[in-house]
Amino acid sequence: MNPIKKSNRTRILEYIFRNAPVSRATIAEQTDITPATVTTTIAELINEQIIVNLGEVEQSDNTPGRKRVLIDLNPNYAYAIGIEFNEKYVSFCITNLKGKVISESVFSTTYHEISNITEFIIENVEILMQKNEDIKDKLVGIGIGVPGKINNNNKELFADSDVWKCFFPEKIKQRFQLPVVMDNNVKCMAMGIYLFKPEQSPENFSFFHIGIGMYCSNVINGELFKGENYISGEIGHTIVKVDGKSCECGKNGCLNTYASERWLIKMAKILIENNASVILDKLVKDNEEVSIEHIITAYNLGDEVIREYILEALKYLSMTISNLSIIINPTKIFLHGRLFEDKMIFRQFKEYIERDSNFIGDSYFSNIERVPYRTINGAVGASARVIDAYFINE
Ligand SMILES: [Zn+2]
Repeated sequence: MNPIKKSNRTRILEYIFRNAPVSRATIAEQTDITPATVTTTIAELINEQIIVNLGEVEQSDNTPGRKRVLIDLNPNYAYAIGIEFNEKYVSFCITNLKGKVISESVFSTTYHEISNITEFIIENVEILMQKNEDIKDKLVGIGIGVPGKINNNNKELFADSDVWKCFFPEKIKQRFQLPVVMDNNVKCMAMGIYLFKPEQSPENFSFFHIGIGMYCSNVINGELFKGENYISGEIGHTIVKVDGKSCECGKNGCLNTYASERWLIKMAKILIENNASVILDKLVKDNEEVSIEHIITAYNLGDEVIREYILEALKYLSMTISNLSIIINPTKIFLHGRLFEDKMIFRQFKEYIERDSNFIGDSYFSNIERVPYRTINGAVGASARVIDAYFINE
């Protein structure tokens, strides 16, 4: 893969998104673009009202007599629509250029209830646009975070479930006459952190999402790592137990089969069917109801079998993070998942990480950061993804 040659304007915008407020001199120093070109480009961006002048500010190093004029992004110059759909919910949002959500809607629904996801998206984007009539002309595009893999070449969606066969991004593009970008939902979340939370995200990091399935997106030198094909990031199909449980992918002992919500729920249902759980049994009316929340509650109430399952899941997740740290050695690892919202579970997880990451460094756990689990995160990330593709990289 050849890196795409970026224009000076794109490089300057990228730098501003990540580092503003900043001076022209710093941009020139850090991007290696000549001060003259920086000055001309910034003048253009100010003229277009994309950038605003903040005025003179004292240097942070307090050098006497040296003042620099700082510039910042005008966050409300443009907006983007972000969407995420998966087996649990469909979420929509509009954000400004700095990721501020100005409108959102989340539909907790099972995919069985949506007969046509394309129509469902079109209807709800229309509603969102009607509600935000005043910014309609400032929309950069529509980003869609999808529950699966995207073929790098033809933008085709490969998902575990056949119900998404009725997903046609072309129809959405035609209906709204806006650029549409679709990408794996976890890649979108990583882009959301990178673009909208620059103070929190380094240039190299991994974003590990554990939900119904799991995925790990890597940002390397400020770019989403793509790999040769769509398999990159499918961390749930790395083997953690030789000759372990058989996975839907055809292999045995994949991480998914021990730690994904889909498999934890599957195992919990079997427990209930066999009357093998004392506590979980009492939390649900019938086994169809079991959710990851019930499993977490049962763990905290001391359900022995559930406890074993969770501990096993945490051990394999910790082992995977240790391997990831050696292979990629990201500056930070973000964790996003319902499981890590629970204090007791996270404390236990920390113990395993400290044990498994000895080799990498005593304080490796401090590089691991929990991202609060929110159903809107994927949609916000999708908004970042389209801003990156159609606003920064025109
Ligand atoms: Zn597998």
